[in-house]
Formats: sequence, C-alpha cells, structure tokens
Amino acid sequence: MAKEDKLAFRFDCGAVWLNLLATRGRTFSPNPVERLATPGRLTEWLERCELSPTRPPDQHDLERAWKLRETLRALALATVDEQPPPADAVADLAAFLAQYDDPVRLAADDRLRREPPATTVHALARIARQAVDQMTGSDRLALKSCPEDDCRGVFTDPPGRRRWCPSPACASRGRVRALRARRNAAAAQSNDDQTPAR
Ligand SMILES: [Zn+2]
Repeated sequence: MAKEDKLAFRFDCGAVWLNLLATRGRTFSPNPVERLATPGRLTEWLERCELSPTRPPDQHDLERAWKLRETLRALALATVDEQPPPADAVADLAAFLAQYDDPVRLAADDRLRREPPATTVHALARIARQAVDQMTGSDRLALKSCPEDDCRGVFTDPPGRRRWCPSPACASRGRVRALRARRNAAAAQSNDDQTPAR
C-alpha cells in the first residue's frame, strides 16, 4: 500500500472551510503537520479551491490564513461538542469579517461564477463566511470531530455513519486500538473462566 503523503492537502472533509482546518494535521500532537508552510503552498491550495486571488499571497497573508484556521478550529470544536464558543475566537472572527466586506458579484459565461477575490484575505473572508453559515444553521448538526485525541479533525457526515475523519491514518489507528481492546477483554474473560470457583 502506498504510504500516505503526510503533506498532501485533504479535500474530502465536506466543505472548503473544513478542508482549510485539515491543512494542519495531527493538530493536537506534539508534532503537528503544517501543510500550508509557505505562501507558495497557500497559492496552490487556493487554486485547488477555485479561490485564486487576483494578487498572489505573501507571508503576511499566510499568517492571516493560519490565524483564521485556528480561530475556526476552536469554534468548530465548540460547535461539535455543543459547548459555548470561546469568546476570543468569536471576537477574532467578528473583527475579521467586519474588516473584509465582500459583496457577491456574479458572472455567467459557460457556467455560473463569482468574481475572483481581490486579495488572499478576501478569499479567506469567503471561507470564513461559509464556516459561519454552516456553524450557525442546521447544517451544524452534520459536523463531527475525529475521536483520535491528537487529530480532532472536523468533517461533515450527513448520513451519520463515519466515526473517524477522512484521514486513513486515523481510522486505521483507531481500528487497531479497538481490536486490541477487544482481544484484551476476551483474554481477561477467558482468565476469569479458568479461575476455579471458591
Ligand atoms: Zn482524524
């Protein structure tokens, strides 16, 4: 089996804003994986999301993207856990959105399009608005977080069937652990059975 490329972007979390969260892997481990390490990687990621800004991202834009990502992560985890959102994250997001007004201007040629974002922060503001819509409406009920403690990746699961995030590494680690726990339980049970009754 091909080894999973740790630095590959994930586009399978269910929404662009969730895929942004997934640009950092193993977030809660001592060694998180940064998939948006350079402005060039951010350019590539925005391109894949069809959100290329007119002016390409610089280092400052990259730092803004990291900040927004972690703000959205804190809010998303609170939403999934049905906890009140952290006040600093709410304030951050509100201030960011107030700064970047981005009216919807539609264009239609071969298909329906929206005018490209002028700058990276405008692209980020579109992603932030998508996140707000999802977290404040009924779509929030389809959000889940990965049970792996070092991941906690947020994804959508409308049918309610997935347990782990779409990263194959999390599902396989989780399944191995569950199997081991079942074996240990079975071994403990058979030891009990062999204990003579007193
Ligand atoms: Zn995971």
